[in-house]
Amino acid sequence: MNKKVNIIGAGLVGSLLSIYLAKRGYKINIFERRPDMRKAAMSAGKSINLALSDRGWKGLEGVGIADEIKKIAIPMYGRFIHHKDGSTAYQPYGKEGQAIYSVSRAEINMRLMDLAEQQKNVTIHFNEKCISVDKQNLSAEFENTETNTISKHKSDLIFGSDGAFAASRLNLQLTSDRFEYNQHYIEAGYKELIIPPGPNGEFLIEKNALHIWPRGSFMMIALPNMDGNFTCTLFLPFEGEFSFEKLRTEEDISTFFNEQFPDAVPLMPTLIDDFMNNPTSSLVTVKCYPWTFEDKIALIGDAAHAVVPFYGQGMNCGFEDCVVLNELIGKHNEDWNKIMNDYQELRKPDADAIADLAIANFVEMRDKTADPKFLLQKKIEARFSEKYPEKWIPLYSMVTYSPHIRYSTAMKEGQKQELIMQKIMAMPEIDKKWDSEEVEKEILKSIK
Ligand SMILES: Cc1cc2nc3c(=O)[nH]c(=O)nc-3n(C[C@H](O)[C@H](O)[C@H](O)COP(=O)(O)OP(=O)(O)OC[C@H]3O[C@@H](n4cnc5c(N)ncnc54)[C@H](O)[C@@H]3O)c2cc1C
Repeated sequence: MNKKVNIIGAGLVGSLLSIYLAKRGYKINIFERRPDMRKAAMSAGKSINLALSDRGWKGLEGVGIADEIKKIAIPMYGRFIHHKDGSTAYQPYGKEGQAIYSVSRAEINMRLMDLAEQQKNVTIHFNEKCISVDKQNLSAEFENTETNTISKHKSDLIFGSDGAFAASRLNLQLTSDRFEYNQHYIEAGYKELIIPPGPNGEFLIEKNALHIWPRGSFMMIALPNMDGNFTCTLFLPFEGEFSFEKLRTEEDISTFFNEQFPDAVPLMPTLIDDFMNNPTSSLVTVKCYPWTFEDKIALIGDAAHAVVPFYGQGMNCGFEDCVVLNELIGKHNEDWNKIMNDYQELRKPDADAIADLAIANFVEMRDKTADPKFLLQKKIEARFSEKYPEKWIPLYSMVTYSPHIRYSTAMKEGQKQELIMQKIMAMPEIDKKWDSEEVEKEILKSIK
């Protein structure tokens, strides 16, 4: 097998995909628009960290690199809720020991590039921006962003892993009949801020948790970094009563933070400067179809399905794409017509499901994590699931800890569970008898 493969974009998914394909003997060239981030300093205000969970780990394990990435990952065993009155509450994410892991986006991307380049048959070309793809001739055109030189590269297969605003996708869209495309911006944007480490490099809030300051129509979250920092992300509507448009002066910002996040402010000495200097970014869902062209081209990762970050699954879903594709290469013995067809038919419903679940989880995180009724519901579900694990896996656990369950199945199961729980929560005095046999029997009856 000496097929030549061009991958557009050396982000998280493109880099991992190259390792999968290299291990199968393909010869890979990756073309990346940006300079090599291992040599260039990261731009300020873009220190995003991501939650890596079981689907992502499965993707990394598939090529034997999970242990390498574990070295730069911090387990978060639950949500640490910060209420407005300064009180806090801890909500475990799953069963004891189950965690999601905080990784710096830049760190994991750099490690994946290193691991890709350790394969003899992978070469990454930096500063090469894709400007067009000739579908029929499988030739992609690139502009070098330093020299402005244009070059064309032919291959036997092309993968577009160039992210949410993919040039490769735009090309398919413009040159295909009946190409479905939908993009949706939510009303909130986000801005990154920081809680630095204490004087001795220590973590100033609980290290092994994902911190949430839920405030109804908006929220702030914080994830730990290896160096003792926390990256905080403020998710806030662009317009309205509480919004970015209302936070223009230093006074606006400090009044807002002192009112809304009083326990965080003393931990954020550079808050005003960070707020003023860091960009406000938007959040988009992208759905499109088809993802492939004949036996020649496929979109993968955010290029095929960008989702909002509230389920912490964008990267995980992209890594799962690689797992599925790899299984299909084995199953169809390199028959790329069959592989491409099955890949998009299998993955499209799952990508749509996680896109919708992610939108719904914004409401859960910013609003319901502070709602006692919602917390009681979760407690009842957790209790029942512990007793009858074969009958009930909570939706969050299906999505996050159960890579053998498809996203689309998890969503359908979650909808059924929600209907049952609505009935349970409507039982008189449910707050007093939530752990009773009566409630348990009612759930068992409803499941039947
Ligand atoms: C605020 C925020 C928080 C998130 N949190 C999580 C989380 O907790 N968990 C999770 O799983 N996911 C999370 N995500 C989603 C995650 O970041 C993405 O799903 C993931 O980065 C997708 O990887 P990708 O390789 O498909 O795209 P990207 O990582 O965007 O990589 C695309 C690459 O293509 C390159 N490129 C772009 N255009 C071109 C071109 N024309 N030519 C050549 N190269 C090009 C880019 O420079 C980049 O290197 C979050 C996203 C955001 C915005």
